[in-house]
Amino acid sequence: MQTIYFDNNATTAVDPEVLEAMLPYFQGHYGNPSSMHHKGGEVATALREARQRLADLLGCEPGEIIYTSCGTESDNTAMWSALRTQPDRRHLVTSRVEHSAIINNAAFLKRLGYQITEVGVDREGRLDMDQLLKSLTPDTALVTLLWANNETGVLFPIEEIAQLCAERGLVFHTDAVQAVGKIPINLKATKIDMLSLAGHKIHAPKGIGALYVRKGLKFAPFMIGGHQEGGRRGGTENVPYIIGLGVAARLAGERLPEENTRVKALRDRLEDGLLKIPYTMVNGHRTQRLPNTTNISFEYIEGESILFHLSHAGICASSGSACTSGSLEPSHVLRAMGVPFTAAHGSIRLSLATTNTEEEVTEALKIFPEVVKKLRDLSPFWKDDGPVVESEMLSCDANNCQICN
Ligand SMILES: *Cc1c(COP(=O)(O)O)cnc(C)c1O
Repeated sequence: MQTIYFDNNATTAVDPEVLEAMLPYFQGHYGNPSSMHHKGGEVATALREARQRLADLLGCEPGEIIYTSCGTESDNTAMWSALRTQPDRRHLVTSRVEHSAIINNAAFLKRLGYQITEVGVDREGRLDMDQLLKSLTPDTALVTLLWANNETGVLFPIEEIAQLCAERGLVFHTDAVQAVGKIPINLKATKIDMLSLAGHKIHAPKGIGALYVRKGLKFAPFMIGGHQEGGRRGGTENVPYIIGLGVAARLAGERLPEENTRVKALRDRLEDGLLKIPYTMVNGHRTQRLPNTTNISFEYIEGESILFHLSHAGICASSGSACTSGSLEPSHVLRAMGVPFTAAHGSIRLSLATTNTEEEVTEALKIFPEVVKKLRDLSPFWKDDGPVVESEMLSCDANNCQICN
């Protein structure tokens, strides 16, 4: 059975060119870049080149990049640095639709006594700018907002927000893990203070990330140790992975036009085809959105069941909600957007990449209607060709479903 991989926001395949560039650094070029001998020197030179490539993709200086182990570490580092460098400020602003790397860290900081504001979004996932502006105070240590939402692809106006924060003397961080490689980024032209990215979302391996820290910004390390990364992140450099990320960054820059033309057209054809299925809707703004992502609700059926049947037919996708067993909560993102119960429960995310083809979309458009029909025929809320009750009248029997309770 052929696999159709539409889950590129979860992780991507390592590009063959990336892997090839990495391999010599496991055996032949195994030196420690800090060593004074030639085996260290050759690796230090390669690291400098890799750092330059990533800086080129982001439009920043190589010295403004700190390598980390993942996107989550980058996010944590940014948050802790802002708090530790401004100990008299006790307030943090974020949104209700962040990745768990930010949301759960914010919840932890709240337990430590920090004040947290989570700004809301509208029905289409766009940030409430009025609420954001009202929440900024002289006590605010950090404003952290994700650039592109991993579940819906919706983009926040990050450059504009960074400018608003700069005017108020506030530190601004963005989780750009999903934005890098999909939209143009030129940090020099923005007021962004810190930016997180992760290698495995752009065809580098899992386990490598980076944090951009604007030159001159006060910084406190998260990993305290050696002099690596200019003393900003201790620990011997993950050399092969940093080399891989450098190649992935170059490829991401080269493929940015394709991402916004061919991949976007594939996404749009897939989405338009799926919307022909009745009682189906897109979650998230249709234009202020990444070119590769669509989040679609198939009403009156469960996201998990759809995924199970899709997987059986070779299609890999991901769910935005999980409520069937009563032990899982629906997506906090769709909840924040006010997506109604039947739609939130039947939502799935499809995320494409340059590795996807027209044939895959054609095949998926054959499989989806069959899966949806099969599940609706089994659904207690569906009879013949339509719903038996209005969606607003349904409620969830899961005790802890936050949409329903
Ligand atoms: C994947 C992702 C992360 C986490 O990155 P890891 O490398 O898996 O830690 C953080 N934020 C967003 C928006 C993501 O999509």
